[in-house]
Amino acid sequence: MIDMDSVICDLMSEWHRRYNRDYDDDLTVDRLQCWESERYVKPECGLRIYDYLKEPGLFLGLKPLPFALEVLERLHNKHHIFIVTSSVSTAYAEKECWVEQHLPFIGRKNLIFAHRKDMIVGDLLFDDAPHNLLGFSATGRTAVAMDYPYNRDVNVPRVKSWLEFEKFVNHLWRGE
Ligand SMILES: [Mg+2]
Repeated sequence: MIDMDSVICDLMSEWHRRYNRDYDDDLTVDRLQCWESERYVKPECGLRIYDYLKEPGLFLGLKPLPFALEVLERLHNKHHIFIVTSSVSTAYAEKECWVEQHLPFIGRKNLIFAHRKDMIVGDLLFDDAPHNLLGFSATGRTAVAMDYPYNRDVNVPRVKSWLEFEKFVNHLWRGE
């Protein structure tokens, strides 16, 4: 089970680019020490930081993170891969298009929209959100963190890149 935002897609760069443009700031993901983005933006923005997530076209235009597509294709040949993503519902259609366009071998039929990832059947979750990592690992299954400053307090295996994640998975299921 693979998360989409900030794991497959680089949401933060484009989200922050739009915020920085409008509020004359220089926010980057390195500044986010916890999940609540509103704590790291200018007060005049505050919770409006989340309004960007409802802008048409935002999710459709996101760039893949380095090696995400290549590694997913290799892993897809050996494992059952599902993309499990949670977002504002207005983004669902764009996310379906993104998967069809960039990951046709996975396709929209293996795309699951879920806020409760711990309730989905699967052996392993690769995610960046602290609540998803904690909830999934609490079920006794393996949650792997894509390393970001905002999830460093979560005590699960973590990787800094897709190539590192590929090594982790190959080691976990070596010989199978
Ligand atoms: Mg995410």
